[in-house]
Amino acid sequence: MEVESAKCDCCGLKEDCTKEYISGVKADFHGKWLCGLCAEAVRDEAGKRRQKGYGGVEEAVNAHMSFCRKFKSNPAVQVADGMRQMLRRRSGEMSAASAASAKKFGTSEGTSQATEKVKGLEL
Ligand SMILES: [Zn+2]
Repeated sequence: MEVESAKCDCCGLKEDCTKEYISGVKADFHGKWLCGLCAEAVRDEAGKRRQKGYGGVEEAVNAHMSFCRKFKSNPAVQVADGMRQMLRRRSGEMSAASAASAKKFGTSEGTSQATEKVKGLEL
């Protein structure tokens, strides 16, 4: 398996992922590569937009990128806090979504690595 370092277009987090995973994520988000946390947030946002009948993935990516930019001038720990708060609003639906996306890409490495890095920031 070839592994490449990918950088999140939203928060700048770097992850080592397989090329297959990287191109899968890019295909999902209009050519942008997002880390596990951002991808979850964008998928959630895109789902909400689809339900309401306005916009789609592209708008959700843009909305999340401006969300991340708001936190960029602050210490990284606040980015993690902001995202955790956002993700916390989603109830049990979250774990089901994570399992589904992990299955889809054949690996959950990207997501779990991102989560570990964010947990490390709490120290
Ligand atoms: Zn990110």
